[in-house]
Amino acid sequence: MIEKFLAKGYEEGTLEKHRQEVRAIPRQQLLEKKMVETRKSPRIPFISTFDVNSKRCRMIVLKYWGLLGTDPRYGKLFQAPPLFSYRRGKNVGDLVKTKPKCNLNNQQPMRSHGTFPCRNCGHCSGIIPGEYVTHPLQGSKHSIKGFFTCDTSNVIYCLKCPCGLAYVGQTSRSIKTRLYEHKSTIRNYQLPAVGQTTLGTQATTTDKEKELVKTKRETLLAKHFFTHGQRVAQLRWQVLEKVMCKQGQDIKRALLQRECYWIWALQSRAPKGLNEEYNMSCYL
Ligand SMILES: [Zn+2]
Ligand SMILES: [Zn+2]
Repeated sequence: MIEKFLAKGYEEGTLEKHRQEVRAIPRQQLLEKKMVETRKSPRIPFISTFDVNSKRCRMIVLKYWGLLGTDPRYGKLFQAPPLFSYRRGKNVGDLVKTKPKCNLNNQQPMRSHGTFPCRNCGHCSGIIPGEYVTHPLQGSKHSIKGFFTCDTSNVIYCLKCPCGLAYVGQTSRSIKTRLYEHKSTIRNYQLPAVGQTTLGTQATTTDKEKELVKTKRETLLAKHFFTHGQRVAQLRWQVLEKVMCKQGQDIKRALLQRECYWIWALQSRAPKGLNEEYNMSCYL
């Protein structure tokens, strides 16, 4: 072992001296368990959470501590003043942060209901928060069950204009993708030129007709934003429901049925709302 230390640059004389010292200790003594001497403070610990009143509290305790020492039986325990120590108190951060509520049954954090930002897209800021949707006309609250984000798919959603009018829609894709389309339609909306307002004026191809029917559903929403001078950024939204589908069921049909229900529940059909069509065929 000495060679190892020599290689590291220790002085040979010092190493030899320490070797002699260690060898002089009897083996038995080295194997004995050493009793660690703990110096117990005669002072009693006084532990509390630190806050604005801590100093006052300390002064009061110290002021009357002497009274305890006068007790004939236990007074000797309270001769020395207590040892004050503090736990960290709550700061603003602790008060602002909310821990997820825990469900005792499965120990999974219980998530709240409503639509929550994904924090990774441009639609997050437009989310209408809360566990309910406010009826656009009556102001009554309809509760929403489920946890949704911008990435949730197979949903029925509600769009609201700052004026309060609502549009109910459905999508099998993520709500985020659908919102991009809605916003693009609103941005690109132009009032139809005279002569093009009806389908029959020109010889329209069937493809064009199909396209018109497809976009017709959204045009009322876009037209409303356009004529009222509202900007796309003012569009607010929330998910109303995620449609679950059993195996073998048609998800598109299920979505349309639930969309119908919500259009009826929120009375979002024109002219009270921004939904143009109200098709019950999905129930047939
Ligand atoms: Zn988002
Ligand atoms: Zn409006």
